[in-house]
Amino acid sequence: MAIVILRNDGLVDVWKAALNAQAPDIPVYGSGEDIPRSDIKMAAVWKHPPGSLKSYPNLQGIQGLGAGVDFIFDDAEIRKDLPIMRVVDPYLASDMAEFVLALTTGMLKRIQDYKYNESLSLWKPKTYQRFKEVTVGIMGLGKLGLAVAESLKSVGFSVVGWTRNSVPAVNFPVFRGGGERINFLNRSQVLVCLLPLTPETRGILNRDVFNALPRGARLINVARGPLLVDGELLNALDQGMLSEACLDVFHAEPLPADHPFWKHPAVHITPHIASVSDPKSVAPQIISNYRRLLRGESPENLVSRSAGY
Ligand code: NAP
Repeated sequence: MAIVILRNDGLVDVWKAALNAQAPDIPVYGSGEDIPRSDIKMAAVWKHPPGSLKSYPNLQGIQGLGAGVDFIFDDAEIRKDLPIMRVVDPYLASDMAEFVLALTTGMLKRIQDYKYNESLSLWKPKTYQRFKEVTVGIMGLGKLGLAVAESLKSVGFSVVGWTRNSVPAVNFPVFRGGGERINFLNRSQVLVCLLPLTPETRGILNRDVFNALPRGARLINVARGPLLVDGELLNALDQGMLSEACLDVFHAEPLPADHPFWKHPAVHITPHIASVSDPKSVAPQIISNYRRLLRGESPENLVSRSAGY
């Protein structure tokens, strides 16, 4: 009985050390090791090679190592009967809240613009906005969206939110579904995307959405790259529908060197770093889910296969 960790980023040893430290009784293997494949009961994965889980015949569950599990659904070869779990972690939420707060406040006070002007040796004061005069719209009021809303409200922003079905108990207006989306967008001077990537949300950040925002609105996409139609964002920026965009996630990562986003003065790029799973903090839920699987119990933070998140 064992766990295998499969990651695309060289961090297998860090995750293995965190699991070993908190559960020395559980054998944990990383890709590249001599793995007793039939012993593996759980695969803990982050962007594993598609098809690689087929070689573990006794797998009982797939534990995603982040909040988003779109890369697991992208693997057409995973068994349909396996439960899929994701990470829900207080640091993941608070780190995201801090990051979005930094981006939002930076844009409104023009910090990114001055950094750009600095590269041109250009001294050029610009107008700025006060937080209490700005409404931020948050698409996706899940674990991360709600934490972001709370932190923005705490410094004076007005917040509106948009979800699919749920009606979270919050002290700001919540809009739901396609029918209420326009009303939500009309109010969003800064639009923050924290939706999961699903067949329903792919390409949702498109021309129609940009048209519905107040003229000169700002976009922050910290969810997943394929939510955004890149060319339509560039058009919206060039036509003044949007004034700037902060992008942390992209269709291809790292963002290819020849992508027009790199050179666009109104696009601010960060390297998928808004909020990163902390192995020490996340290890207990992986261990707990592994033990639950072995006992035949339902694991926690299960993902819905039909909804895709
Ligand atoms: P979550 O708890 O599952 O929340 C998802 C939210 O999106 C829910 O409010 C859900 O509405 C809403 N939603 C889903 N599909 C929708 C649709 N078609 N229309 C309208 N609303 C929809 O997810 P989370 O933990 O907050 O994470 C959100 C995403 O952030 C992850 O999926 C991941 O891709 C991304 N992320 C990025 C980073 C980074 O570093 N950039 C780090 C972590 C996570 P209901 O409640 O009504 O279902």
